[in-house]
Amino acid sequence: MIIVMSHQATPVQVDAVVEKIAELGLTPEVSKGEDRAVIGVIGGNAYAYREAFAHLGGIQEIVQITKPYKLASREWQPRDTVIDVGGVKIGGDEAVMMAGPCSVEGVEMLLETARHVASRGAQVLRGGAFKPRTSPYSFQGLGEEGLKMLAAARDETGLKVITEVVTPGDVELVACYADILQLGTRNMQNYALLQEAGRSGHPVMLKRGMSSTIEEWLLAAEYLLSQGNRNVMLCERGIRTFEPATRFTLDINAVPLVRELSHLPVIVDPSQGTGRWSLVSPLSLAAVAAGANGLIVEVHPHPDDALSDGAQSLDFATFDRLMADLKRLAGVLAAQAAHN
Ligand code: PEP
Ligand code: MN
Repeated sequence: MIIVMSHQATPVQVDAVVEKIAELGLTPEVSKGEDRAVIGVIGGNAYAYREAFAHLGGIQEIVQITKPYKLASREWQPRDTVIDVGGVKIGGDEAVMMAGPCSVEGVEMLLETARHVASRGAQVLRGGAFKPRTSPYSFQGLGEEGLKMLAAARDETGLKVITEVVTPGDVELVACYADILQLGTRNMQNYALLQEAGRSGHPVMLKRGMSSTIEEWLLAAEYLLSQGNRNVMLCERGIRTFEPATRFTLDINAVPLVRELSHLPVIVDPSQGTGRWSLVSPLSLAAVAAGANGLIVEVHPHPDDALSDGAQSLDFATFDRLMADLKRLAGVLAAQAAHN
């Protein structure tokens, strides 16, 4: 629940409410706005304790959070979360482009891709060093060597780095090299991993489980948030449906819906979401038009030779056209926002 203090409430009254919350074994979280303090109460069924506050002064109202996820909900935080990743703002007015190969295959191809996407306006370099592959016989990634290559590409280009972590024991290692930890679709409900990534405090992008509902996804985000990590962004990457014509079905509905339900930034991955390079640009534009705060797109110098996900990777020329189209779309959306 949320306790909204009146704007005349004194600091002593705020402290009394905070003490009461702690006394009840619940966790207070005070946020001081321009004209009033709002105190979030975390723990079990907090609303059941509302009577305990009846005799305290300075309280304007007590609001129940009706959703099963609390910290992730818009009720908890009406304003958008904006995550500052070394100066790159995720969740603000501009959609952020994260681009790079599915897997880090070697330093040359990584640097070539990083230089190219940076020159076209991408702000974050993607690339998997630890790859959770469906088949144990597929390329599993270069591990720490791959992380070092990502760090070298960051040093040269200034791009921030996002890369996947697959086990709780590797969170610390991956956080040494990555600016954003990617939690993949196959690990959305790996609660030990969520808790470790939550404890790290490092920016995290949580992909939607391919068979998860939006509520399950937001509850997974709640695991990260409830460990004190508020640098959480979500990523819609396609779900399993009856339709085999594409690898997954990119759930565009989820973009505006999750932005209604939650204050967390929403990124879209049209590469995993479609499995086909020719669909990546149209779905990227659709995602941004629907309100996505950013895109994560697979780009490879020679998609036909890629060690993973070549069929859904853009070559440089296609990526360039997409960036030009996104620029024009940003102009249209800015004019639309000014009109409203
Ligand atoms: C990826 O980004 O290459 C990837 C494996 O993503 P997902 O977890 O969405 O399948
Ligand atoms: Mn991939």
